[in-house]
Amino acid sequence: MEAEYHCSSELGFDQSDISSDSFAIIQNLKSHGYEGLLVGGCVRDLILGLKPKDFDVVTDALPHQICNIFPRSRIIGRRFKIVHVRQRGRRYLEYIEVTTYRANPESSNSWVSKIISKSRKKRNRFDGENIYGTREEDVMRRDFTINSLYYDPIEEKVIDYLGGIQDIQQQCVRVIGNPHQRFLEDPARIIRALRFKAKLGFHFEHEMKEEIVQHTAWVDGLNSSRLYDEVLKLFNQGAAERSWDQIFSTPLGGMLFPHIASQSKANNDERHMRFIRQALRNTDSRVRDGLPVIDSFFIAVVFWYPYKKSLLRHIGKGLENYDAHDISVSECLVKRADLLMIPFRVRNIVDQIWWMQTMLERRDKRDIRSILSDRRFRAAYDFLLLRSTVGEIESSCVKWWTEIQEANPKKYAYMIDQLPKSKKSRSKQHQIKKRFHRKYARTNTTQPQGMV
Ligand code: ATP
Ligand code: MG
Repeated sequence: MEAEYHCSSELGFDQSDISSDSFAIIQNLKSHGYEGLLVGGCVRDLILGLKPKDFDVVTDALPHQICNIFPRSRIIGRRFKIVHVRQRGRRYLEYIEVTTYRANPESSNSWVSKIISKSRKKRNRFDGENIYGTREEDVMRRDFTINSLYYDPIEEKVIDYLGGIQDIQQQCVRVIGNPHQRFLEDPARIIRALRFKAKLGFHFEHEMKEEIVQHTAWVDGLNSSRLYDEVLKLFNQGAAERSWDQIFSTPLGGMLFPHIASQSKANNDERHMRFIRQALRNTDSRVRDGLPVIDSFFIAVVFWYPYKKSLLRHIGKGLENYDAHDISVSECLVKRADLLMIPFRVRNIVDQIWWMQTMLERRDKRDIRSILSDRRFRAAYDFLLLRSTVGEIESSCVKWWTEIQEANPKKYAYMIDQLPKSKKSRSKQHQIKKRFHRKYARTNTTQPQGMV
């Protein structure tokens, strides 16, 4: 298979945009006699003049050989083995993914794949997927031509087997091989195709949209955590609003969020749509400003209206607020038999953001201090702000919470003093607090940031 070689300067990007860690890793691999190249999204983004989200390295060294070269590395992944390599002085979460060239299990004839699969098949069923191969085989396994470029940062050469550079220049998302077969092989590529189209503003090659619309149902067969990860990537990479429109231009939107699809058909909740759109726009501007975004906030936004409906129904039946909340969370996030399985950690944060809405609105004198010191306060406050933008919350309430955060002790005492006398009995208040804390005792302790 013939490759074309292009100088980076000819493509208009310069070496200084490349992470020094990935450069050092490639140098090290080469000094041990292995190949080392950057691949995929980072090469695409460099050519487009965008800042790459991450730098992925590929090599012909096998995972254990990579680990021998880099002592601060570990093999992860069951389906595919990937090596996370950390450079000296880096924090635990700062690593570069290094992957061995892989081949398609069906098409591979390479000697490496035969040895590996023979010796490993017996040990671990997941190893059936780790079929190693040559670079020529590796390129054919990739999803789209725009993601199929390799870059040698030492020689400063881009290696293009499949016309990826031309597709980037012509802004075209093109599947490598037959779209029908490649989507069937891995339906996550359907979601990825929509993501790249939205994120890069590209168009689909001929017939691809048709394939996606016809076979969206295949996504149903994906492992739930992989599906969740691919879906959430649609909304945390700076093109959330465009991704939303993309998925709703295919049956995928309705599959993932059936309550939205039925709602827009009935055209009965225009405010909910405005609410979601505003959140998506805020997310995009946060990403543009380099601010963190959390999955839970997006989930809290998308399921807020069904939650509210359910809450009102249960309160109407005479349930206490907290019980009604508990059941509604469960109805909206847990018992949904739809495609998107929301992980436990995300569900709990959403639960807290929602419950805190009641507390923020109520402004009970005795709760203020604990609300302000709650680790979910920031996300809950951002959520309140978002609600106020669609007229769900009185602006005086939002203003009060904004002011109290900045108040000096004197003003703080005055603001609390101005609040009406608490109506809740101390024992009732204590009971709810206890239930609340017991329930969330297992959640992680990281401080979330909202999207507003
Ligand atoms: P991003 O900018 O979002 O990171 P990316 O193209 O780098 O985009 P990754 O998910 O980081 O996407 O994957 C890295 C590379 O691995 C891709 O560019 C592609 O070559 C390959 N890849 C990822 N997922 C698949 C898949 N499902 N099928 C085939 N190739 C894939
Ligand atoms: Mg990437």
